[in-house]
Amino acid sequence: MIESINPATLEVIGKVDETPVEKIDEIFKNSRVAQKKWAKIPLKERARRVVKVNEVISTQFDEISLIISQEVGKPPNEAFVSEVYGVADSTFNYYTNVIDILGGEEQIPLGFYESLDKRSFIERKPIGVICVIGPYNYPFTIPFQQIVQSLMAGNSVVFKPSSETVLTGKRIQEILDEIDLPENLVQTVYGSGSKVGNPLIDNADKVIFTGSTATGKRIMQRGANTLTEVDLELGGKSAMIVFPDANIERAVLAARWGCFTNAGQVCASVKRLYLHEKIYDAFIDKLVESTKKLKQDIPTKPNVDVGAMINEEQLNWVEKMVKTGIEEGATVLIGGRRNPDLKGYFYEPTIMIAKNNEMRVVQEEIFGPVLVVLKFKDDKEVIEMVNDNQYGLTSSVWTDDIEFGKKIAEEIDTGSVMVNEVVYTFALAPTPWGGTKNSGIGRTHGKLGFYEVSRPLHINIDEYKEPDLWWMPYDKDYDEIIENFKNIASSLVVKDKYE
Ligand code: NDP
Repeated sequence: MIESINPATLEVIGKVDETPVEKIDEIFKNSRVAQKKWAKIPLKERARRVVKVNEVISTQFDEISLIISQEVGKPPNEAFVSEVYGVADSTFNYYTNVIDILGGEEQIPLGFYESLDKRSFIERKPIGVICVIGPYNYPFTIPFQQIVQSLMAGNSVVFKPSSETVLTGKRIQEILDEIDLPENLVQTVYGSGSKVGNPLIDNADKVIFTGSTATGKRIMQRGANTLTEVDLELGGKSAMIVFPDANIERAVLAARWGCFTNAGQVCASVKRLYLHEKIYDAFIDKLVESTKKLKQDIPTKPNVDVGAMINEEQLNWVEKMVKTGIEEGATVLIGGRRNPDLKGYFYEPTIMIAKNNEMRVVQEEIFGPVLVVLKFKDDKEVIEMVNDNQYGLTSSVWTDDIEFGKKIAEEIDTGSVMVNEVVYTFALAPTPWGGTKNSGIGRTHGKLGFYEVSRPLHINIDEYKEPDLWWMPYDKDYDEIIENFKNIASSLVVKDKYE
């Protein structure tokens, strides 16, 4: 039995039965049967059936938001806007686009070979059984979007929610059970990663994993045994760079929201704030003032901005990292401690001035409400500091000069760069999501997300009636043919005007 605990009140709010490990092979066997049936249904009809989840969700907005709020510790309205709305928007978006992305044939020009009546094209096929392993911080929107894309592409899904958020996981399964899908097309496995992880990876055709970098590496290592494909959406240490010409009022509020939403437990959270020396002092003053106004409390109470962290272990880790930062010479401007007035896992919104870019608090992911601030004097210096990090998920550049912002964005080594925005592209269904370096491999969302859950099948059609020129025998005629080939090859040299 896995208990779900409200991290703000420490009350047990529900339980689910653990899935016996010995049942996992059978779950996959059933999943394969369902997938074969599902893949035979035309793409348009599959999409039409899957989009019905929006009808189900629309009758339960408040209920789902409350489950997420109670299980993760975030305010229900934040849960609605960042999770429930995210699923409805993406499902609708995928429904309207999937035919363009996955339907039909993508013709490939073959050049010379076309004169020999040959042609090639790509069709996208389902991969088979996709295992979606979800994190605790966005337990609804992250796995749900991945499940929707996988299903529309013709796959079946075995889903493992985080053990911290089994009730949200259960609700996803219940919603999908209400729509017209073949039996066992989506099945949920409940259990800790250490127990059920390996059999899931061993049985799956592909794993879409969202979580920490350490676990992601373990999954990739395990997947190597069976050459199981992996898509890894991992940790981050996102930087926000503010130039003097930026809209400072807006940037201050963006930094505050970008760091403290979901109590800082966001892969894309603003974790490093780089301020130009000309605005450094004024920006910090405004940010600290506005952070003081945030209300931290049990998130189901009215008008709470910042809720709880997920558990004691995560909170202890944040406490330890802040302590390390202080030992390394960082200065805490606000927060820097567990909230003494609340009995749940509350850590106060914290802003620290870092001494240099090499400190652990600047380099490592602190998955909680902790922002580190650094000063820079020019573009070159800040680009070097931002890129000098093991993570590469997302970042933002703040300036009034969009061309300049774009130029800086092109120098930054992250999967996404926003100019004058933070975090939110994570919620955009059409735009690709994923990182570089230790932030992961692959992309979810949009067209690239559909490519992740489908395989290219290359079909080559030949309507040439004669033997191909390069076939045996290698006789005198063949020597002549080869001379012609040499002439063709010489004509393939790129002329100066194209260089
Ligand atoms: P974890 O890596 O601890 O867990 C993620 C999931 O993996 C959970 O369902 C967990 O199960 C499971 N798991 C753990 N061990 C294994 C294993 N050996 N085999 C298979 N599955 C396993 O991450 P968190 O849930 O703590 O999430 C926080 C992390 O996720 C942060 O680093 C954050 O940056 C990252 N993240 C990245 C996102 C992105 O899009 N790049 C988005 C959201 C979060 P269980 O907990 O039940 O043991």
